[in-house]
Amino acid sequence: MTNFYDINKNKELLVQQLEYTAKNSPFYKAQFKKNNIDIGQVNSYREFRKIPITTKEDLQNYNEEFIAVKKDEIIDYVTTSGTLGNPVSFALNDADLERLAENERLSFEMVGVTKSSVMQLTTTLDRRFMAGMAYFLGLRKLGAGIVRTGSGLPGLQWESIERFKPDFLIAVPSFLLKMIDFAIENGIDYRNSSIKAAVCIGEPLRNPDFSLNSLGRKIKDLWDIELFSTYASTEMATAFTECNQHKANHSLSSLIFTEVLDENQNPVKPGEIGELVVTPLQTQTMPLVRFATGDMVKFYGGNCDCGRKSMRISTPVGRKKQMIKLKGTTLYPQQIINLLTAFETLKIFVIVASLNENQTDELLIRIPNDFVEIDRLQEHLQSGLKIKIPLERTSVEKLEKLKFPKESRKPKIFHDYR
Ligand SMILES: [Zn+2]
Repeated sequence: MTNFYDINKNKELLVQQLEYTAKNSPFYKAQFKKNNIDIGQVNSYREFRKIPITTKEDLQNYNEEFIAVKKDEIIDYVTTSGTLGNPVSFALNDADLERLAENERLSFEMVGVTKSSVMQLTTTLDRRFMAGMAYFLGLRKLGAGIVRTGSGLPGLQWESIERFKPDFLIAVPSFLLKMIDFAIENGIDYRNSSIKAAVCIGEPLRNPDFSLNSLGRKIKDLWDIELFSTYASTEMATAFTECNQHKANHSLSSLIFTEVLDENQNPVKPGEIGELVVTPLQTQTMPLVRFATGDMVKFYGGNCDCGRKSMRISTPVGRKKQMIKLKGTTLYPQQIINLLTAFETLKIFVIVASLNENQTDELLIRIPNDFVEIDRLQEHLQSGLKIKIPLERTSVEKLEKLKFPKESRKPKIFHDYR
């Protein structure tokens, strides 16, 4: 088997982490014992793979048992984002905060931030959010300038850009669009501002072929700054970051041991999609071993054009729970949403997944009944997905109701009835 999971690369760190975890984590002590895992024997990926996967449910149900330090060592309490399900508590001690700073220092270095750069943070630093603070710590370690504007308030963002002349922004991509709107409405010469690049979080920017997706394209067309994609989560406490080649996100191999696994928990081949399973290295308060993120990512091998050899992954193409199997092909709602959003004359749509009488997945895309370019849309979809999905005309009124259900604060484009 091809071994991108060469544990020799950071063997010492991985072995150290496993030994630390076996000694200090009540959850893993019990789990290793139950499964007869002798951490001292883990010498190869073959041995490492015998350790069972840890799930989000484990972390939720046995939360306290993951804490591997004395309570008075804990400094910072945060929660996970809880996109699906309830947010889960997470904690960090001094060493974890130092590690988090190093993680962002390495990540920012990858996008070209230096000591002489100034970065404006348009994300929140509080609200039990780990990332905002991580950015601050990383920039501080790097010695760069920091402007903490926080989230929202486009007016304050532009006033700060004018006042402090930052060259980088950290932002959620759709917030960049809001900033552009505000600048246009208020006659701000945003195209000639000091900003030269944005480090983006929270939303995907690129297609699997590394081209910008519709959201990325929209920003870039209006405002020609360099866009860097990043991907991170509280549980991983590590960022995966794009280099200046913009060909997927690099793994920081001294801080995280990364696997991308298929349904049978075998490593996928480069170019394939699998679930991201991580073992953060050098963490102390809540060490996780083989934590299944539930995020499906495309796996790329090492050897990037930038010269780095660390493995690369895409930003998530979907959640594991949303996987659709259709005519021998596996796909995710986001792939279909990206293609449909790129089709400019299609103003509204919803995607419906259900089970047919054979208990296999079925898909349907509802489009407005006055939409005229059906053939061209079908062609566009088929060239992107390699399969045909039925399109069904629906009244715009019904589509609006489906897309904006009363009980949900977010638009609901994917309806899963399986
Ligand atoms: Zn690279």
